Amino acid sequence: MALRKIVTLPEAVLRRKARAVNKFDKNLQTVIDDMIETMRAAPGVGLAAPQIGRSERIIVVEYFEREEDEEKEDAPRKVWAVLNPEIVKFSEDTVMGVEGCLSVPGLVGEVERHAAIQVRGLNRHGKPLKVKAGGWLARIFQHEIDHLNGVIFTDRAARVWQPQDGFEPERDV
Ligand code: ZN
Repeated sequence: MALRKIVTLPEAVLRRKARAVNKFDKNLQTVIDDMIETMRAAPGVGLAAPQIGRSERIIVVEYFEREEDEEKEDAPRKVWAVLNPEIVKFSEDTVMGVEGCLSVPGLVGEVERHAAIQVRGLNRHGKPLKVKAGGWLARIFQHEIDHLNGVIFTDRAARVWQPQDGFEPERDV
């Protein structure tokens, strides 16, 4: 495994619509493992392949599986790798929250997201996968899937600002 370089704006790959994954070979496994390692080292709670310069529909997310566990720091976290993810269901109700992005250093923004979603895609071996997400987990998935369509959180933000000195957003994606 190896750390990959995280690209930042205005890198063109971040604005491209990424292509679907259709080969589940050893190379893909290495890319996924490297993405997980890179996300953890950043540290972040999500990463999309365009953020390491690859225009492919791959996301990794590591967070608490259950919404109620978000309050407990020592609750176990779960890691997902989802290929060709699609939001197939979403709640009508939305929620505002402050997001940062590893590819947009030095800026945070307030973004409205669906409160709950259902994601379908493939796992790292090409088998169908379904994730039901609420709370922060739902926000992370929406942020990462946006990356696959060339959308950056600042495009959706109601307002964007530079955090004050010493303030580090805890959950960059
Ligand atoms: Zn991001």
